[in-house]
Amino acid sequence: MKNDCLFCAIAAGEIPSSKVYEDEICFAFYDIAPQAPVHFLVIPKEHIGSVAEISGENSPVVAHIFEVIARVARELGLESYRVVSNIGEQAGQSVHHLHFHVLSGRDMTWPPG
Ligand code: AMP
Repeated sequence: MKNDCLFCAIAAGEIPSSKVYEDEICFAFYDIAPQAPVHFLVIPKEHIGSVAEISGENSPVVAHIFEVIARVARELGLESYRVVSNIGEQAGQSVHHLHFHVLSGRDMTWPPG
């Protein structure tokens, strides 16, 4: 756990969130400022700064997160959804702890804005 990391504190239950799913590896919770009718985030419990810090050592955690995304989406009955991860300031990353946005429930444009 990294000091002063918002998502480390949420994963540890120190800051309240609207939990969707939890296991020993990852934590999923609804985004506080939803950009779609369904918008939740899936994060690793261990601190990884962003996709740019994924390595051979920690990539099993990411594979697990994608299994969880598929399972939770299925359980929520989502037939179509988008998974997004922003890396760095220009791409819109505001929290520097790896997270995957899962967005669903409205038409989406491509390319994204
Ligand atoms: P990003 O801008 O890609 O780094 O995504 C960070 C996301 O975290 C944004 O969509 C925020 O709305 C969301 N967020 C920030 N603080 C919280 C919080 N306390 N609980 C839930 N979501 C949050």
